Amino acid sequence: MSISTSVLTELLRFFPDLRPQLYFKSSLIALSHAMEDQVLADTNVPLIVATFQRERYYRQEAHRYRRIAEKTAWVYVLSAPETDFRNDSGVYESVAFDVADALTQEWHLVVLNSQYANCLICRERALSPAEIAASPVENSRRFEGIWTFDRTVSLKAAEILLDRISLYRPELAPKLQQTRDIFLSASPSQKMRDLPPASSSPATNPDPFVQRLVTYLQAGQYKLMKAYRSIAAQEQKERLIHLMTVAIRESLDPEEVLDIAVEQLGRVLSVCRCIIYRCQEDSQTVKILHEYLGSQAPSARGETWPVAQNPLFREVLERRATACASDTLEDPRLANAPKASLEPFIRQYGISSWLCVPVFYNNRLQGMVELHHCGTTREEWTKEEISLVEAIATQVGVALIQAEAYANLEALNEQLESFDRTRSNLVAIVGHELRTPLSTIQVCLESLASEPDMSADLQQVMLHTGLADAERMRKLIQDFLTLSQLESGRVEWNPENLNIQECISLSLSNTFARKSKQELPEIIAPLTSNFPLVRADGEWLVQVLAKLLDNACKFTDVGGRIAIEARVNRDRMLEIAISDNGRGIEPSSLETVFDRFYQEEGALQRTAGGTGLGLAICRQIIKRWGGEIWAVSEGKDKGSKFYFTVPLAEGAIEPQNGATARAPEASSVKPSANRTRQRRTKKRQ
Ligand code: ADP
Repeated sequence: MSISTSVLTELLRFFPDLRPQLYFKSSLIALSHAMEDQVLADTNVPLIVATFQRERYYRQEAHRYRRIAEKTAWVYVLSAPETDFRNDSGVYESVAFDVADALTQEWHLVVLNSQYANCLICRERALSPAEIAASPVENSRRFEGIWTFDRTVSLKAAEILLDRISLYRPELAPKLQQTRDIFLSASPSQKMRDLPPASSSPATNPDPFVQRLVTYLQAGQYKLMKAYRSIAAQEQKERLIHLMTVAIRESLDPEEVLDIAVEQLGRVLSVCRCIIYRCQEDSQTVKILHEYLGSQAPSARGETWPVAQNPLFREVLERRATACASDTLEDPRLANAPKASLEPFIRQYGISSWLCVPVFYNNRLQGMVELHHCGTTREEWTKEEISLVEAIATQVGVALIQAEAYANLEALNEQLESFDRTRSNLVAIVGHELRTPLSTIQVCLESLASEPDMSADLQQVMLHTGLADAERMRKLIQDFLTLSQLESGRVEWNPENLNIQECISLSLSNTFARKSKQELPEIIAPLTSNFPLVRADGEWLVQVLAKLLDNACKFTDVGGRIAIEARVNRDRMLEIAISDNGRGIEPSSLETVFDRFYQEEGALQRTAGGTGLGLAICRQIIKRWGGEIWAVSEGKDKGSKFYFTVPLAEGAIEPQNGATARAPEASSVKPSANRTRQRRTKKRQ
């Protein structure tokens, strides 16, 4: 059986002046509980009629009704069944109505006794789609209806419900009649008073209903406040994370991102100090560069802090998680730390509560976020605070990695640009250096082939020119290959203890093998001085000396002078200098002369010959043994001086008479000095 008339509508028909109110579900729960609790606390025997929209709602309250049934035999509970709720006359009368019945839309509770009567008769309001979308359905369910202590209204409500019950459960007719007689008849109060009290315990509180209602409302309010607090915390967290994300997106400067992070975290969490520093697992100390100070606490900016000894730092590394101390004076971990290092430190910076949140990326420690309360303020770090700082630490990790990747990318770009320059230079060199001699060779060979009557002298000139240009091409290719090998590290190194005089002598013999003394400037070399042994690869060392000597000869007139000097410098390296009084170098070019293909005239107008790769090769060789090369010149026509350093051999004995050792004696060719080495050296020229 299913009845489609609403109980509320029926009741309002009898009382047209009643104005239905709107109730949230939570308010109806509070009212119902308060009404039920009052019944439980009262000594009077009441009539109770309660309807539940669905069996699931009834189940939540079933235990209360069992307790109520211990106090009164007049309990009727109605509900639409879902599992096993059915018509029954067990502990109390249960009445199952059809799921299509209008009662599934309603919520009723009627209490009648000799002292008071009250009723709650409500109907659920259908929600608009917008209302459903605005909040979770369960919390936003609303009802309209009457809640009143008016006895007349309550009696009518009870009557309507008892009539309904008699339709659903006709077999209850006698009991229902008895109920009506006791509770609804013309003078029910007397009959009600005649009922024996069900419980011996008197109502201890004169107004338990109000008390209980207040408790329920308070509890509801408290829950609401908690929910608001958590929403506010969540909102704050999201705002901060958003801010960080924007900062990271807008800036690739990690320092700026870290500044924003300390500032925001410090402010939002109202701490006395917030710092972020970079560190690794094995860091002993860290430099504090990013700090927020919220009060008069001493600043740590620019300071170097010990971290390896800090038990909180160690705990973070061991547990790979946040570590904190709410009271640094009482914390056992800090108390057991080596007193000498930690205690004065904590005192100096006034740290009373300490939070350390690691910045990990791919499980690799990137840094640490620290928050401090200072002075007498001691506070527990809440779960919300920790989770906020951890969320920011994750963003900081991303920022640091992003910045690192950007820096790597920039380095890679620079490398690519440099490769591109090399490639362009190569094209220029191939275009000029290779094609020019090649066409000369071609012209010479064609002339020789097509002019059989050419004079013998001219034939010689042609042959000589062709051969010279072929040699120029060979040298360029050779230098380029050497430089490529040196740069890519594909060179075999055979370090040995060497006598520098012997190396100078070998390089001189190379020079003199190509040109006679008359075609060269005067060369002064310290061939008889006593220098400590150096540690280097002999062939490469001779090549450096030969190249520098060659340049000095190339850029100095025959009447000029070249000097080779050596001394042990402060770094215990042998410093060799090759100076000339020739063409000189503009101060602005002193560094660029070491660039690949640098030539003062530019690649296309070369007069002095050469490839522009010699000094770049020298720098690569010298770098390999940990030395340096540099040029000094006062400018055009003021001569040049090229210095380079070579490490001393282990246990090498330095000359007693001071650092400098220079022989004013003019050099001489000693081709027999070391034939084997000379042959090996030639191979590389
Ligand atoms: P190159 O094959 O052109 O000599 P290098 O790399 O040896 O190539 O030298 C590069 C350039 O440095 C030279 O072309 C020249 O302009 C300048 N340079 C090198 N040595 C000297 C020097 N002793 N005096 C003046 N200029 C020099």
